[in-house]
Amino acid sequence: MTIAIGSSRAEIRDELSTTAFDLLVIGGGILGTSVTWMAAQAGLRVAMVDAGDFAGATSSASSKLVHGGLRYLQTGNVKLVAENHRERRALAADIAPHLVKPLTFLVPIYKGGPHGAAKLGAGVFLYSALSVFGDGMGKVITPHQALAKVPALRTEGLRAAAVYGDHQMNDSRVAVMTVRAAVDAGATVLNHAEVVGLRKTSGTVTGAELRDRLDGTEFGVSARLVLNATGPWVDHLRRMEDPNAAPSIRLSKGAHLVLRRHEPWKAALTTPIDKYRVSFAIPWEDHLLLGTTDEAYEGDPGAVSPTEADIAQILDEAGHAVRDEQLRREDITYAFAGLRVLPGGPGDVAAAKRETVVTRGSGGMLSVAGGKWTTYRHIGKHVFDTLARLPGRPLGDEIADILPAVPLPGLASPEAVAMRLWTDRERSARMDPLVARHLATHYGSIAFDLARLIREDPALGERIHPDGPDIWAQAVYARDHEWAATVDDVVRRRTTLTVRGLDTPEVRARIAALLGTG
Ligand SMILES: Cc1cc2nc3c(=O)[nH]c(=O)nc-3n(C[C@H](O)[C@H](O)[C@H](O)COP(=O)(O)OP(=O)(O)OC[C@H]3O[C@@H](n4cnc5c(N)ncnc54)[C@H](O)[C@@H]3O)c2cc1C
Repeated sequence: MTIAIGSSRAEIRDELSTTAFDLLVIGGGILGTSVTWMAAQAGLRVAMVDAGDFAGATSSASSKLVHGGLRYLQTGNVKLVAENHRERRALAADIAPHLVKPLTFLVPIYKGGPHGAAKLGAGVFLYSALSVFGDGMGKVITPHQALAKVPALRTEGLRAAAVYGDHQMNDSRVAVMTVRAAVDAGATVLNHAEVVGLRKTSGTVTGAELRDRLDGTEFGVSARLVLNATGPWVDHLRRMEDPNAAPSIRLSKGAHLVLRRHEPWKAALTTPIDKYRVSFAIPWEDHLLLGTTDEAYEGDPGAVSPTEADIAQILDEAGHAVRDEQLRREDITYAFAGLRVLPGGPGDVAAAKRETVVTRGSGGMLSVAGGKWTTYRHIGKHVFDTLARLPGRPLGDEIADILPAVPLPGLASPEAVAMRLWTDRERSARMDPLVARHLATHYGSIAFDLARLIREDPALGERIHPDGPDIWAQAVYARDHEWAATVDDVVRRRTTLTVRGLDTPEVRARIAALLGTG
């Protein structure tokens, strides 16, 4: 039996505890989700569980960039940039054009700055050449031209700006659409379900013991093979397998700020801070996203949060290129932090492609962490291939080939969806074009399902908060079709209320009532 979207948590728990799975994936960040999607596409019975919400940790705390990685050119990693570009362009053109959108980036070049115009000009030219000029040719423009794209750009000492193209997304929404793709392909998934122990048969890991964090129910899952994709917690799970497992990773904290934006920005800024670090200022969700920091972290991964020092550093570094009026503290709507997983520590560590750390423990559990959001399909496929070829073939021999380019649910032109949402109704009852655009770019053609909910109950077409484009139909849809079980799942990751600073106590109480948790 496969569990349908919209099944209750009790039904999913029942399915999880009574099925003999081929693969259990622990961790529903983008890495675990990607492997789950690939394994389900290959025809396996696969389960995925997350202690919190899907993408509730690192995968919703990124810089939201789908990028080739301009900085890799500095270390001469031309092949990696070309591969990242290929995957970026595949996501934007074939897999998720409804969710991934192009964005122009400027690298401002100031008098006395760490890099000169000739070097940066050559760098962005090479960068664009490595994506076969698919986003235009990297070039250098004048301060006047740069100011026309970014009105808040600091112009004192500005010599020129280098220009290149990449893409951006709403990471939480792309993640939930990928979870949905995995479920459409036959996977069984549950969030807010924490692995508290591993099942072993003759010393081999054959499943996990879980606790539902919402109601305390305890249950177990059995599987032929278990994958630990718990990101910053990867060593915690490895120690469940073997209390003596040596550390395999190091963590580095990266914080971001979201600020209200006062003018439209037609481009983002990548500002060099020193020879190696850059500060991003990115127009995102009608706001400005600033970041990020990079600092060794040794505490509990669950406790990571932006500190006052992080906020001060981000504003200070953004101030190299952004005028003070756009960096006022009272305009901060949200601050968040995540943990980069870096290869490191002694022990049985193999660094695979893209800084992804893959280890196999004494109980046969494969652990994987690190990598990039941009290349998540590639990493998922790589990890899945590794699992499929393990000695003894624990996943069996009946593994179907994975189609090269399965799109995410809702694939459609966002322009076409927005237009239809707007024109489908009587002139007097038309959807606000801003809301239509918001739905089209966060759901693709699934926005028509939301429109149907509004037709049945027009109150669901109302905005949740008057200052943002999120509407009540999204909250209902999140509860019924996107596994949202807590207020934060809805306000932080299924909608944009939190990042816009609109998750007021009243909004939270109304959503709690909708979820039945109030
Ligand atoms: C600051 C920052 C900025 C970044 N920016 C970009 C960017 O712009 N572009 C890009 O391509 N990449 C970016 N990255 C990289 C990218 O975000 C990560 O590579 C990716 O999100 C890692 O996903 P993951 O699934 O491995 O980890 P996570 O998303 O952390 O997922 C691990 C999951 O495991 C779960 N878990 C932990 N313990 C248990 C347990 N006991 N039982 C069940 N579940 C458990 C957690 O709840 C969590 O959801 C950035 C990373 C950081 C830190």
